[in-house]
Amino acid sequence: MQESCGVFGIVEKRERQRNFKIHHGLGQVDKAYSDTALKRMGKLAFQIFFALKGLQHRGQDSSGMAVCCNAGIGHNRYSTTGGVNKKNIQPIQGSFRGIPFALAHNGNLTNTLELKKIVEDCGAVFEEGVSDTRIIVKLIEISIKQDFLEALEDSLLKLRGAFSLVILYRDKVIAAKDSFGVRPLCFGENEQYYAVSSESCSLDHLNIQLLREVKPGELIIIDRYGIQSKSWILQTKKKICLFEYIYFARPDSVIDGVPVHRARRKMGCYLACEHSPKILSGQAIVPALDSGLLAALGFRDCTNILLVYEALFRAHFTFGRTFIASTQDSREFGVSLKFNPVLFDIENKRVILIDDSIVRGTTAPRLVKLLKTPKKLMGKIYQGAKEVYMLVTAPPYLYPCYYGIDTWRYEGELIAGQCKGDIEKVREKIGADYLGYLSLESTIKAVVESDLTGKLKPCDFCTACFTGNYPIKS
Ligand code: AMP
Repeated sequence: MQESCGVFGIVEKRERQRNFKIHHGLGQVDKAYSDTALKRMGKLAFQIFFALKGLQHRGQDSSGMAVCCNAGIGHNRYSTTGGVNKKNIQPIQGSFRGIPFALAHNGNLTNTLELKKIVEDCGAVFEEGVSDTRIIVKLIEISIKQDFLEALEDSLLKLRGAFSLVILYRDKVIAAKDSFGVRPLCFGENEQYYAVSSESCSLDHLNIQLLREVKPGELIIIDRYGIQSKSWILQTKKKICLFEYIYFARPDSVIDGVPVHRARRKMGCYLACEHSPKILSGQAIVPALDSGLLAALGFRDCTNILLVYEALFRAHFTFGRTFIASTQDSREFGVSLKFNPVLFDIENKRVILIDDSIVRGTTAPRLVKLLKTPKKLMGKIYQGAKEVYMLVTAPPYLYPCYYGIDTWRYEGELIAGQCKGDIEKVREKIGADYLGYLSLESTIKAVVESDLTGKLKPCDFCTACFTGNYPIKS
């Protein structure tokens, strides 16, 4: 089951007597928690609520939180193969030697079936259905270790795949990353709190200073006295998801030392370098809002071509991310609800359309069409663009992600895969007059050059969706 989600954990630096409580709700954060529910959970619930709002882009399907003593965790879930129902809402509650705990997971395991057998052989029953997260909870429950942390470490050693976990146990929040560190997870601190989060943007909302990214194979244990770090596995190899920088993360987040907005802007700049001179005959840059905006700014910085920000006006209030609609029909309808073309400044022009990715190929052909189709207004016809050159700040998306980005549900769904990587064929399918992708080398260069720590290396990324090189063997 694919789980591309947002996780959060917080520890207050003072003692609180609070019983273990858990709340689950369907839909976006605003819908999932009523005022009464938040009040029932206690004061810390409001901090978790705002942090989860900051992680809303990582999942709008359902949201949940658990609190105990002076600590709490939360989770936003993305629409996935597991479907939208109450059973899949995280955090998942478990019990260790009679003490309740809660676990939230971002990522995707690759040995689920094998693990399911292990826990079932030990007598565990999945009354509420099987999921990666529930399996991890069961592994902890059935561990022969007497200490919770030891039971957790024992369980982590059995997992394969991508996982960034936050766990609530008594007055502690424990965070763990897989040995490749595929999905992001960072932590920070202010005078009142320690916190861990999928992305630093939610720490910003709570005025918590980002300290650093959790390392691959690292276990972070937080209680009111401080943060402890240890390795649960010695052999690690950083392979952070490149697509987080391209698309998934919020641009105001810093992921593993890289301000995401900076990397995206640089990608736009490299797009201009890689696709001149053809593209430099363009007369207007149009970003696919909001995903292509930063790249479009970077592209404009390097070319000085007119940026027509609003040509594909994004009607935010009507529809969320296209992928979040779960059927192809509603996804297609979603694109037309999401964008309203404003053609006045691009009439009869050669337009450079910029987006961060083409995955299934739902959005791009519709945007090209919207830009080219004349619009009748008060009895007058306004022409669309004369030509549309589509540029993408990522290489062709060819292979499925097994580590938690929800981009495919059946074989052959990825448009570049269908065309066997033939860019001319993809161009024909989307109806653009030119199609240019960013090379893998430049995509990575844009990220590495934006790193504030100077530690990231070009080999530190998972590029499986572009190259088919899967770092984690199943
Ligand atoms: P598609 O329409 O299938 O080609 O997907 C590409 C469009 O969806 C681009 O505008 C991206 O910004 C956005 N996108 C890419 N990956 C995802 C994802 N995993 N979930 C939601 N939207 C995505």
